[in-house]
Amino acid sequence: MSIDQQISSYYDKLLKRNAGEPEFHQALAEVLDSLKVVLEKDPHYADYGLVERLCEPERQIIFRVPWTTDSGEIKVNRGFRVQFNSALGPYKGGLRFHPSVNLGIIKFLGFEQIFKNSLTGLPIGGGKGGSDFDPKGKSDAEVMRFCQSFMTELYRHIGEYRDVPAGDIGVGGREIGYLFGQYRRLANQHESGVLTGKGLSWGGSLVRTEATGYGCVYFTEQMAKSNGDSFDGAKVIVSGSGNVATYAAAKAQELGATVVAMSDSSGYISTPNGVDIALLKDVKEVRRERISAYAAEAGNGAEFHEKGNIWEVEADIALPCATQNELDADSAQLLIDNGVRYVAEGANMPCTADAVHLFQNSDVAFAPGKAANAGGVATSALEMQQNASRDSWSFDYTDERLRKIMSGIFTSCEETAAEYDREGDYVAGANIAGFKKVADAMLAQGVI
Ligand code: NDP
Repeated sequence: MSIDQQISSYYDKLLKRNAGEPEFHQALAEVLDSLKVVLEKDPHYADYGLVERLCEPERQIIFRVPWTTDSGEIKVNRGFRVQFNSALGPYKGGLRFHPSVNLGIIKFLGFEQIFKNSLTGLPIGGGKGGSDFDPKGKSDAEVMRFCQSFMTELYRHIGEYRDVPAGDIGVGGREIGYLFGQYRRLANQHESGVLTGKGLSWGGSLVRTEATGYGCVYFTEQMAKSNGDSFDGAKVIVSGSGNVATYAAAKAQELGATVVAMSDSSGYISTPNGVDIALLKDVKEVRRERISAYAAEAGNGAEFHEKGNIWEVEADIALPCATQNELDADSAQLLIDNGVRYVAEGANMPCTADAVHLFQNSDVAFAPGKAANAGGVATSALEMQQNASRDSWSFDYTDERLRKIMSGIFTSCEETAAEYDREGDYVAGANIAGFKKVADAMLAQGVI
C-alpha cells in the first residue's frame, strides 16, 4: 500500500469511528496530511499501530452536571474531559464553557493540544475538557454553583501528576477560582499544581493571563522578522475580545502596531486610530459588557458594525483570536485582496481548511494555532514548575522565558519544514515537529 493509500485508509476508519464530529475530522485531516512526508522518509513511524493509537484518546469522560439557578430551578449540563495522550507528561489542556461544546469539539481541541504541548519542549501531555454551560448572563453565585458541581465529578480524574486543566473560552480567573476551591475541599489538600491560571496569591504565575496573546505576537514577530518585517507601523486585525485577543492587541500596540479592528459574537469594531486597552479591559473583563459598549465610549473614530465581517478591514497582519472556523475562504480572499502579509492563529483552528490553502497558495505567511498560541500552555507549564518548587518568578523573568519558548517553537517549525522540503510551510513544520517527539516517546514506551 502506498503512503497515500495508508493515510486515506486511517482517515476513513477514523471518520466511521468518530461519526458526526466535523471539527475533529478537520483537525485529523490536517495532521494526517502533514504526516505523509514523515512516513515516506521514516517508515518506522507507521509501525506498532502508532498513528491509530495517536488518533484515539486514552480516555474520554462524560458526566452529568446538575446545578441550581438563583430562583431555585434545577438545570442539567454535560461535562467532558478527554485525556488524549500522556506519553510526554500529565494531560494538560483547558476547560471550555460554551453552549456549542460537544464531544467532537473537545476531541479536536485535545488532539491539537498533543502537538502544541510537544512543541513547547516542556513535559506535558494533551487533554481538553469543558461543558455546554453558558456563563454569559449568569450571576456569580450561579457560576460558582455550576463550577462546584462540575468539579465534584472532575476531581477524581485530575491531579498534579495525572491531568492539569486550565482555562479556555468562558473559563477565566473567576471560574478557575471556584473550581480550585471545590477541588481543595473535596481532596482535603492544597494541591496547587492541579490547575493552572490560578490567582497570584494562591499559586498563580505572573504572565499566565497575558501569555497566549503575547505569545502569539512573539511568534508572529519572528515570522515577520524572517521576511525583514516587524509590527512597527503595521495595521493589525485581532478578532475576539476575550483573554487571547485582549493581550494580543496589547502586545501588538506595544510593538508599534495599530490594532484596527476587534470583535465579539455580536459584531466588530473598526478602530482606525488604535484600541484603548485599558478601556477594553474595563468593558470586557470588569463590566463583562459587549464590544459595542467599547465603541460607544471610546470615540477616536471607533465604530461598531453589528454582525459585520471583521475580515473586510484592510490590514497587514491578521490574528484570529476568537473561535474555530471564524475565518472562511471568502474572508481569506478579502484579506489577501487587501494585502495582508501575515496571519497567525491565536485561537484554535479559527481558519477553515480552505482559508488556510488560500493563504498558503498566496504570498501570505500563515502560522497555525498549535504553534502560534502555544504560549498559554507553555506558561501554564511554567506555573506548574513554580508550584512544584514552591517559588514564584518575576514578571520580566517569566515573560523572557515565554519569549524564548515562542522563538524556539518558531525555529523548530521553520527548520522542520525545511528538512522535509516544505520551506515556509509552518503548518507542516508544526505538525511534524510536534508529532515526532510524541511518536518517539510512544514507541519507546511500548504498545499501551
Ligand atoms: P474568551 O472566552 O476569553 O474569549 C472568546 C472571545 O471570542 C470572546 O470575545 C467571544 O465573544 C469571541 N467569540 C466567540 N465566538 C465567536 C464568534 N462566533 N464570532 C466572533 N467572536 C466570537 O476565550 P479565550 O480568549 O480564552 O479563547 C479564544 C480562543 O483561543 C479559543 O479558540 C481558545 O481555544 C484559544 N486558546 C485560548 C488559550 C487561553 O490561554 N485562554 C490558550 C490557547 C488557545 P462573545 O463574548 O460574544 O462570546
